[in-house]
Amino acid sequence: MKRIFCPKCDYEIGIPIEKVKQWKQEGLVTTAVVCNSCTHQIRLRLVPPSKEKKEQYYGRVVVLENTFCERQEFNLKLGDNQIGRRNKDSVTDLAVITGDPSMDRHHAIIRVKKLKNGAVKFYISDDESRVGTFVSGDILVNKEWREIEDGAIITLGATSLLLSSFD
Ligand SMILES: [Zn+2]
Repeated sequence: MKRIFCPKCDYEIGIPIEKVKQWKQEGLVTTAVVCNSCTHQIRLRLVPPSKEKKEQYYGRVVVLENTFCERQEFNLKLGDNQIGRRNKDSVTDLAVITGDPSMDRHHAIIRVKKLKNGAVKFYISDDESRVGTFVSGDILVNKEWREIEDGAIITLGATSLLLSSFD
């Protein structure tokens, strides 16, 4: 059990180590826990910045805070990174902790490619979601792989995500 104290009311909160391990396996960089006493949301950094192996990752997706979820950050690996709403049986790479009912458990895929000249390219495709995947408000067509760049705004249901490259 990892113990933290609520910065607002000083209530002691226990987080099971297995839970922390699971979050890390899911690639979460930060997450939030709710204080049982005052319901304050406490942001937890799961990976210390110094220990982050940036060489293994080529960019990051920031899930922006909305009425359904807290801000969350996920690293992107080379190849395909599946994105969807987390549930207990999730097998998606980027499992977004959210109550957004319009985000599917498998909603979109971000593909990271490294070219021979070392340049890194990002592409996104819809993963047969119910409401579709949007880039800057533009819906992707079936089977399309759209190139996205640093700062691209991706919309999955009612949730916005921001692509951030490491360059
Ligand atoms: Zn509290």
